[in-house]
Order: sequence, then C-alpha cells, then structure tokens
Amino acid sequence: MTEKPPVHDVSDDHLEVGEPREWAAGVPGVLHSMEPAIKQLGLARTVKLMTSLNQKDGFDCMSCAWPDPAHRKVAEFCENGAKAVTWEATPVLVPSSFWAEHSIDDLLDKSEYWLGMQGRLSKPVYKPADSEHYEEVSWERAFEVIGEKLNSLASPDDASFYTSGRTSNEAAFAYQLFVRAFGTNNLPDCSNMCHESTGTAMSEVVGIGKSTIAYDDFEKADLIIVMGQNPGTNHPRMLTALEDAKRNGAKIVAVNPLPEAGLRRYKNPQRVAGVLGRGTEMADQFVQIRLGGDMALLQAVSKRVLAAEAAAPGTVLDHDFIDEYCGGFDAFAEHIAAVDDDEVLLATGLSLAEIDELADRYIHSERVIITWAMGITQHRKAVDTIKEILNLLLLRGNIGRPGAGASPIRGHSNVQGDRTMGIWEQMSDTFLDALRDEFHFEPPRKHGVDALDGIKAMRDGDIKFWMGLGGNLVAAISDTQLAEKAMRGTEMTVQVSTKLNRSHAVVGAEALILPTMGRTEIDIQKAGPQFVSVEDTVCSVHGSHGQVPPVAADLLSEVAIVARLARATLADRVPVDWQSFEDDYDVIRDHISRVVPGFERYSERVRSRDGFVLPNGPRDSRTFTTASGRAEITVNHLEHVERPEGRLLLQTLRSHDQYNTTIYSLNDRYRGIKKGREVVFVNPADLADLGLVDGQRVDVITDWPDDVERALRGYRAVAYPTARGCAAAYFPEANVLVPLDSAALGSNTPVSKAVLVSVVASSD
Ligand code: SF4
Repeated sequence: MTEKPPVHDVSDDHLEVGEPREWAAGVPGVLHSMEPAIKQLGLARTVKLMTSLNQKDGFDCMSCAWPDPAHRKVAEFCENGAKAVTWEATPVLVPSSFWAEHSIDDLLDKSEYWLGMQGRLSKPVYKPADSEHYEEVSWERAFEVIGEKLNSLASPDDASFYTSGRTSNEAAFAYQLFVRAFGTNNLPDCSNMCHESTGTAMSEVVGIGKSTIAYDDFEKADLIIVMGQNPGTNHPRMLTALEDAKRNGAKIVAVNPLPEAGLRRYKNPQRVAGVLGRGTEMADQFVQIRLGGDMALLQAVSKRVLAAEAAAPGTVLDHDFIDEYCGGFDAFAEHIAAVDDDEVLLATGLSLAEIDELADRYIHSERVIITWAMGITQHRKAVDTIKEILNLLLLRGNIGRPGAGASPIRGHSNVQGDRTMGIWEQMSDTFLDALRDEFHFEPPRKHGVDALDGIKAMRDGDIKFWMGLGGNLVAAISDTQLAEKAMRGTEMTVQVSTKLNRSHAVVGAEALILPTMGRTEIDIQKAGPQFVSVEDTVCSVHGSHGQVPPVAADLLSEVAIVARLARATLADRVPVDWQSFEDDYDVIRDHISRVVPGFERYSERVRSRDGFVLPNGPRDSRTFTTASGRAEITVNHLEHVERPEGRLLLQTLRSHDQYNTTIYSLNDRYRGIKKGREVVFVNPADLADLGLVDGQRVDVITDWPDDVERALRGYRAVAYPTARGCAAAYFPEANVLVPLDSAALGSNTPVSKAVLVSVVASSD
C-alpha cells in the first residue's frame, strides 16, 4: 500500500544527535534505498525502475551527473539515485481538492519535505492576481495566459527564463531557442550557483570549462586529490571509481574541512568486503583545511614542486609539456617563490608537515587527477583557486594523458548538457551566429542576467516575468529573504515541475504551475515513443528512455510544454516549426547537430548503446583553445578570509537524505543526525571558546556590512569535528545567512562556503 502524504508537517521536536559515521554505504545503504522505494512504489515498480536506472536502454538518473561505467552492474545506482527515483516515480498525485484546501500563505508555512511528499503534480494550475489560491486550468488556457503576459511586456528583457540541471538536451535547446526568438538572453541556470567558477577559470586556462578526463582515467591514476567535495553523499558511485583506483594502487587525498564518511571508509555493498568486512579505507591523507584555505594550500604545494625541481633540475617539472603547450610559467614561478608560508598556515589552519606530505605525494605521483565541487567553487576567490588547481596539474603535465587531469564533478544530471545546448546568459557569437543561420532570425546579442543578477533585477523592478524550467530557485539561491521578496514583486511566475516545492508558494502576482513528465516515464509523441539525452560530467552524451507510463494522463513532456508555449507566444514571429519539435525529438537533435559543435549525426550516434563522447581538446590532443592557443599558467594573488575573534566561518551543506533543495527525510546518518535539520556543526574547542556547550540552543547571525539581519534562530549546537574556526549548517535553510552581494569574483557564484557568522546563546 503506497505511503500516504503526511497531513501534518515535520518539526525538530524529536531531533536526535549521535556519533558521526566512519564509513559510507554498506548494507544500510541498500536498506535505506529499497525500504522507501518498496513502500512508495510497490515491489514490481521498484524492480522495474531500479533495474533500468542508468542501464544502456534504461533511463538516466535525475540526480547527480556521475558518469556510467562501460560495464554496467545489474544495480548501477547508489542510495541517492534510488531515492531520487522513488521521489519522482511515486504514484501519489496532488489531488484537485488540494488547491482549495491550501492557500499560498498556508503553503508558505510548509517545509520542503512536506511539500514534496504531497505527490506528483498532474494538472496545470493558475493563481490569478486577485486570489490566494491556485485553481486548475486547461493547458490551452495556461499557455494563453502566459503568452498574453509575455507579449504585454515593454521589453523581452523584462522576462527571465531559468533552467534547472535536470532539463534534457532536447528541452534545453528548444527552450533557449524559444527565449532567444522571444528576444532576450536572460537565461540563468543552476550552474550560475554551482560550477560557474569552474567554467570561468577553465575556459581561460585550458579553453574548455569541463572535465579533461574520461571515466576510465580514475583507475589509471596514481594519486586522486578530492577537494571541497563530499562524494559519499553527492556523487556516491564515485566511491566505487575511487575504490577501483585504490585496488590499482592509487592513493587518495581528501581536502575538506569535514571528515566525511565516504572519504574515510567505503563499504561497497556489491563486494563481499563491503558486506561482511570493513570495506575499503579511502583517503590515505585527510587534509582538514580551513574554509577558504584551498588557494593557499595549492600555492604552497606548487612552491614545493618548484623547490624540488630547483634541488634536482629536470626531475620534477614536465619541461617538454610546459615548453610546448603552456604560457606564463616564468611569471608564475617568480610569484610562487614569494608565497609566505606563515600566511599559508594562517589561511589553511594546517601544519607545514601536512603540506609537505601532500606536496611529496604529488611530486612522486606520475598520473594525478584533481576533482572538486562546491567546496571550491562557492568562495570569493573560487576562480583563482581553480586556476591554482590547473597550475599545479600543468607543472607536471597532468593534463591530456591517461590517468591524469582536472575533473570538476557536476551535481545535477544534465547541468553540463544544458550549458552545451545554449542555456547561458552569455553565449558566444559563434553559437548565436549558428542559431541565426539555422533558424533565420537574428538572436539578441546583449548578455542577459545570471541567477544572482536576475534576483537583483527582480528586486529593482526590472524583471516582471520569471519562468523556471524545473528547479526551486528561491530556495536554492542565497539571501533567502531578499530573494523571496524580489520574486513576490514580479507580475507573473511560471514553474514547470514534477512535485511541489517552496518556489510554488513564493510567487508573483499571477502564478502558474505546469506539471511535467519525469525521466522514468514513457513519452509518446506523434512519431512514437521518444527518448531524451543528457551529458554527464566527463562529456559523455547518452539517451534516457522512460520505462513506466506517466502517473497522470494530462502530463506534458518538457519539450511539449516549451513547443506549445512558443506557439502561444510567438505565433509565426520566427520560422520555427515548433509542432515538429513536439512530434519527433529527432527534429530537435537534427537542428542541434547543425548548431552545436561535436553533435554531428546526433540522432544516429546517440542511439548507439554507449552514446558518444564529445570532443575535448585538452583531453584528446592537448589542444588548448585559449586566446593564446596555449594552456595558461596564471599568477593569482592570494587572499584568505579574515576571521575576527569570536567569529566563525560557516559553510552550507547537504544532509545525506537530501538532493539540492529536495529533502527526502530529516536524517543525516553519516553525521549522526536523526529527525531534524535545525543544527549547526561547530568544533568543540570553538564552542568552549564561545562559552557554549554541545546541545545548547544558539542563534547564528551573519556578519555583513548592511542593515539586513540574516539569522538562524534557536538552532541546536552540535559539537562536531569540523576544522577549527569553521562551522556548517544545512542549505537551503542556511541560505538565509548568505548575502546576495557576497559572490565569487569573476563568476558571480554565491559565496556559500565561507560566511562570517557569530554563534551566540539563543535569545528565544
Ligand atoms: S552517483 Fe549520482 S548519478 Fe549515479 S545513481 Fe547516484 S545520484 Fe544517480
């Protein structure tokens, strides 16, 4: 019997705090995957879906962007992949009566968990300006209302069109075409808030903003340095790739303020040792760095590499590679030689011995991969920090050869594909020219707004219409109070979604929710069953085929929604046959093959069982399409966050039972947390220095030079082995602490990993 949606919301009243785990996955991981699945989906549906997940003729996991190995296992998914499937494939529907029962204000009081547990959205709903309730409407009426609003705007730039990384290549391409045909480049996406810093740094240094390795490079590496990333929760199948690398003799170094279970020990439930034994020890060195200290660490390691070279010339640096492929080495060497170890120790909170050990591991490893995620990209100097990652790799030619490279790990299943399809507010003229030539209209050239600037434009009344293709922007973005106020100031908001979330309660004067199909669902159009495609974190493009009938007859696919909206808004303003897009997705793929480099013969190649891998200059041929045509070794000025006495640096993070802003449960078993989320993790010594104790109710207040109060009130202080001076709390709740103006230089990504806060006894 499928679990009914909760009537009453959850609270922290029954919060339990225990010891953090020293290992990840294992049999508990299997139980925590299958128990909710069978309860929610039933045994048959669970077996059908889980045996199709990430399989060659199956559907692609809608959670993170971890690639699939060439040889798939029967169960080619992790605990969080299973949770994502259970979340999407629930047969529970939001009933028609729901909208009369729950006003916008009522929905505002509900938690993300409660909203998501109400079931799948099944019919379009509309909230008129003079009402506080949504009401069901026909699809025709919904598109008519939106089209009228869009065409009533004074300028296309009064509208912004957001994309979440779950959107398929086909829907993303159609969406950007519709938006540009409408006349704006206001195409922010979730990448603006996560790996934008990566794209900015890598494009400048190596000419491409994507991973420079292939999946099987992991098992060929001698050393894998995992920086600012928690794969045990956010990319769990990566643990298997790391375990395979270790079985081939690789060493792993974890650079993180937190001792994450997945980087300590991994009990692979698909191996005897993982079921009956201790599993695999993961990190050979745990570098417990202070938040924001990564740039200093990387410069210190590079300094030691140069010193080792000076001590034994010709034995450490890859001179052939540097001479033939790189620029900027001399200026860099001079700059790095001046790096002050005392400043490094202050910035990192590490000892010289720890830094020396890491440098020694790097110098004595032939093939090195460095991976990273939000713990690197969401800092003020994130772009320069990533440039230092690339500097270190370039010194020993660790780019463009087996077992070596730079690998940002994407957190959303198709966030990379969406960007490749043109979902970006600042696409190149080359792309826009190709679009013009293919569709015979002149696309707008003025760059649009990204996620942060979009919120500011709403706040300032410049953006009056906002649409989200998936996602939960008001929860995901920083400075929640300001973001929500800005969103409420718009004239109309439109959300394309599968399930309810906070963004459906924080809306413009008029609001619509357009329910869409999920990846698990069979999508039949005029030309027959359709499939979509995605691009994973190592540039592999593959198909995703729905496996079960849609949970509701009225649902439309993302492509159909975009095509019908385009027809309702643009009529025949541009010579695009939107109907053909809806009828047969090969039509879209054929257009893509003529507009996007690397997608030649797309429809044909994506049908091969492994799909295809996109060209990647640095990986394939050490070709660097930078301004100079060389890989740029850059000079970056070290800056670390000053932490005044009595203040802490706080990072936002996910629990283990969460995916982005989707909350699967109130547990975080790897960190010992049960039945609650209102906790702040603080080092016991810092608690003592602050005159606080474990379990005490505290207020967490941001220290930022404006008159906005940003605070979490009445949270439970949890004594936790964080790096000294560093604290952590769950997002999206903790996003209220992150100022809108606190953004990474060069990429405008929210600085969610180094928020200066005071933690004081609660005033409640
Ligand atoms: S590792 Fe990522 S993509 Fe793979 S099953 Fe888990 S959540 Fe899904």
